Amino acid sequence: MLLRLTCKQATALLVAREDRELPTLDRLALRMHVAACRACPVVERQLLTMRNALRQWRNYTASGAD
Ligand SMILES: [Zn+2]
Repeated sequence: MLLRLTCKQATALLVAREDRELPTLDRLALRMHVAACRACPVVERQLLTMRNALRQWRNYTASGAD
């Protein structure tokens, strides 16, 4: 069944989610996997940390400081 992701698929979706909106079914499958998995929540947290750091860096450079 499509809703049962492997960790590899789940990680690919987590990365893809950084760039684009996922289809509802993918989001659902991803949420279910992350809730049941031990490794993927760690990956998700790392991606969120990376995204926040990137956003702060963008804000910093956009503010005109050098
Ligand atoms: Zn997993």
